[in-house]
Amino acid sequence: MESYDTVIIGAGPAGLTAGIYAVRAGLTAIVLDGKTAGGLVGESPAIENYPGFTSIDGMKLAEKFKTHALQYVKIKEIDPVVDIRKDGDHFVLRTQMSREYAGKTVIIATGSEHRHLGVPGEQELYGRGVSYCSTCDGFFFKGKKVLVVGGGNTAVGDAIYLKGIGCDVTLIHRRDKLRAEKALQDKMFSMDIPVIWDSVVTEIVGDGKVTGAKVKNKKTGEEKLVEASAIFISIGENPNTELAKKLGVKLTDDGYIAVDRWMRTSVRYVYAAGDVIGGVKQIVTAAAEGAIAALSAYEDLTNPYWKNEEKSVEGFEA
Ligand SMILES: Cc1cc2nc3c(=O)[nH]c(=O)nc-3n(C[C@H](O)[C@H](O)[C@H](O)COP(=O)(O)OP(=O)(O)OC[C@H]3O[C@@H](n4cnc5c(N)ncnc54)[C@H](O)[C@@H]3O)c2cc1C
Repeated sequence: MESYDTVIIGAGPAGLTAGIYAVRAGLTAIVLDGKTAGGLVGESPAIENYPGFTSIDGMKLAEKFKTHALQYVKIKEIDPVVDIRKDGDHFVLRTQMSREYAGKTVIIATGSEHRHLGVPGEQELYGRGVSYCSTCDGFFFKGKKVLVVGGGNTAVGDAIYLKGIGCDVTLIHRRDKLRAEKALQDKMFSMDIPVIWDSVVTEIVGDGKVTGAKVKNKKTGEEKLVEASAIFISIGENPNTELAKKLGVKLTDDGYIAVDRWMRTSVRYVYAAGDVIGGVKQIVTAAAEGAIAALSAYEDLTNPYWKNEEKSVEGFEA
């Protein structure tokens, strides 16, 4: 079994940055990923809000992250971690290919999966007008007609954001009232964002790029084509917290990993960073959180915070 000071699960921007910071701090570290390094970054057709790059193809940025991280830290790809347990003073991680790794600390940077509608056209037109991230892709549709699907805080927040940057927004919701908090609803209605109530998207249509969506009223059964250049699917996401749960790490009410401002979880020597902890879910924040997590792991191995009461956080293991 290979042993490290810290084992990092997930090679997205959070995990790769954690790897760079951990090794530069003097820790031994490895980053494990079930797919390929770069995480969701590689899925973005264009990134225009990561400092230093006016516009860069997601695959290229992912490659740059990986190349940079490899200067410091080992990366093992295409072998997901399937089990984790505490064994004495270290954690033992097992992968699908039955490799085992031991870590004095663990950084969970496993990201999250967007929920899909599962309708025709969604997969085919992904990145060509179908989006799960208004902050990432909204700017490309400034001045154009866009649809937002959903009725919770994220969907209403996305509708407000998109309208604010100059998109012509319509919300589609499957019920006759929204689940979003009242303040958000008030704001949305004050911005004259129309809602197509009681309706579901049955197909996303387009020819190389989105031109609209077929929308069916659940009460009347009537189906119509609504024209749009983009459709933002905001029906929630599932953070990848299975491994955290196995360790008994506390989650937030929304199902993300709960952390303090140092990215410490409720279990000592376990840290989390990036989309798996919720928040704004962007590359720049994931990278920042990865850096903090690694430095906390370093600090806890060398100068534990529980010896310094001022730094411990209420509700977290100390
Ligand atoms: C289409 C699209 C466009 C986007 N555009 C932008 C943009 O323009 N700007 C921006 O800032 N953000 C953008 N984002 C969001 C950004 O990509 C994410 O916020 C960021 O990648 C999160 O980083 P992360 O490291 O937390 O997670 P991820 O990037 O999701 O990486 C998590 C990694 O963990 C791995 N993993 C999960 N479970 C396991 C396991 N059990 N074992 C091993 N590995 C595991 C996954 O394979 C993955 O590689 C976009 C997202 C999408 C989907």
